[in-house]
Amino acid sequence: MPTCQSCGKKWTWGQTIRTIFRLKCTYCGKRQYESASSRKKSGLFALIPLLILPLNVWLDLSIGTALIFIVILSTIIIALIPFNLELSNEEEPYI
Ligand SMILES: [Zn+2]
Repeated sequence: MPTCQSCGKKWTWGQTIRTIFRLKCTYCGKRQYESASSRKKSGLFALIPLLILPLNVWLDLSIGTALIFIVILSTIIIALIPFNLELSNEEEPYI
């Protein structure tokens, strides 16, 4: 789970999900940023739904079934983000 770099408090899964698009600490109210290494990992997570496309052709799924798969996978990925998320006080540039 992510730890606030400003006050050092650990965020719970629920707190992280609630602030996932703003990343504002519920304890000290400071804006947090996703660290560069964490962002790299998130990028890989975001690619997972794209794996559905070749799978779709291979299993000959209908568009509807593929969409349901993508929605389920995206939900799982968002649910997993708090476990991977690392915070930073400043926006770190991509290396
Ligand atoms: Zn904080």
